[in-house]
Amino acid sequence: MKNDELWQVALGEIELSISKANFITWFKNTSIISNENGKVVIGVPNGFAKEWLENKYNTYIYRALRNFQDDIKEISCVIYSPQQSSAAEKKGADPAAGPAQYERTGVNYVENATNNAPAKENVQQSLNYGQESNINPRYTFDNFIVGENNELARAACYAVSQNLGKIYNPLFIYGGVGLGKTHLLQSIGNEILKKDPHKKIKYITSERFANELIDSIRNQTINDFKASYQQIDLLIIDDIQFLAGKEKTQNEFFHIFNALYQINKQIVLSSDRPPKSIATLEERLRSRFEGGMIADVSKPDLETRTAILKAKLAEKSFYLEDDAIKFVAEHVKNNIRELEGSLNRIIAACEFNKKAPTLELVQQALSELISSGKKKGVQHAHIIEAVAQYFGIDKKDLINKGRKKEIARARQIAMYLMRKELSASYPGIGDLFGGRDHTTALHAYEKINKEIEFDEKLKEDVAILKEKIYVL
Ligand code: ADP
Ligand code: MG
Repeated sequence: MKNDELWQVALGEIELSISKANFITWFKNTSIISNENGKVVIGVPNGFAKEWLENKYNTYIYRALRNFQDDIKEISCVIYSPQQSSAAEKKGADPAAGPAQYERTGVNYVENATNNAPAKENVQQSLNYGQESNINPRYTFDNFIVGENNELARAACYAVSQNLGKIYNPLFIYGGVGLGKTHLLQSIGNEILKKDPHKKIKYITSERFANELIDSIRNQTINDFKASYQQIDLLIIDDIQFLAGKEKTQNEFFHIFNALYQINKQIVLSSDRPPKSIATLEERLRSRFEGGMIADVSKPDLETRTAILKAKLAEKSFYLEDDAIKFVAEHVKNNIRELEGSLNRIIAACEFNKKAPTLELVQQALSELISSGKKKGVQHAHIIEAVAQYFGIDKKDLINKGRKKEIARARQIAMYLMRKELSASYPGIGDLFGGRDHTTALHAYEKINKEIEFDEKLKEDVAILKEKIYVL
């Protein structure tokens, strides 16, 4: 298969596995520059795309290419400017692959090109009008239930909403998935808009931020992009952990952050882990984050779960007997998103069966959800995926023989989780990791099991990973 054909079919696969916006942002104007001895070099338009393709999309690309050429071992990216294209053309690569390719792989390039323009306007609009700042009116302090697990975070967020830019700056909220970070961040925005609808607020996820940044570079509007941020009173960036390893994106963010910080504009950030645990976060960013206020949200206890369930029931005007509420609160423990999901299941089951929500029906409706990890379909692959993603390493490096220290550590954690969560056998685990001896798996399990007792960071990493394997 020729390079351009291979890339076309691979793009077709990648397109199916990521969002359309991400696909267009990161894969537009890319091509295979060379493909020799299992090493594929992909040409990308700039350093940002290089970072994201190499870090975040590496496995997608690898998997997609392997479907069509099974000897592929390594993927790398090079920045490939238009001047170089004529040289590459002579070598047989297809530099014009970009637009034509997209048409052929089903993404309508022309449509996308026009789509980009309104997207830019939206950014501008959302900066100009408070109401269009991506703040969802659904998330307020009023409907946020306070428990021991989120008291501090809630108090910090509320204080910020009353003293914008004056007390905790930046405010950094961290905790596992589904524990209310986005809800709290958005509540700050709603509280501010309630008092002053003209305040300029921007809520954005770190991934979206990176997408907009790269769009502005492509459209040569980077100065407008930066200038638009200068006007913001409150900048909320959600899920900042996705900036890990994206140095150029971090660098631009650092400048925007500093510019706002220096004029006392408020910045609020969230992440699934504390700043010190975000691998490859630039030192100056980390120390900026740590210079503000850091608060965590953790898992709710039984009492809080019960209170949240009751509040959500009232919101939905749905009635459950106390024993049914108790059953849900006792069994759905991981996070609040799951609690909400359980309620929705129960309501759907009642409507579908046209039955009252008895304890028995509730038990039935949730039977799948609350069974053990094994029954829920968590598999070895989930653990490998989650660990690789979390530590920002390639799945194949995790599995193969490499002895680099960070990778070896991540591998031990993955082995530990397989034993702990799936009760996998040691020889089985050894086999999964490139045919290692069972004693290696046993050693890994025992080592992590012991260290977790006193190593706080490890404990936190494992707790986050456990959450992740059940949502992947
Ligand atoms: P995160 O951003 O931490 O992953 P979210 O903020 O998206 O979590 O919360 C998941 C869901 O749970 C949302 O629908 C949110 O409204 C709800 N939720 C989380 N914490 C609370 C709380 N303390 N009180 C009420 N609802 C909550
Ligand atoms: Mg969130």
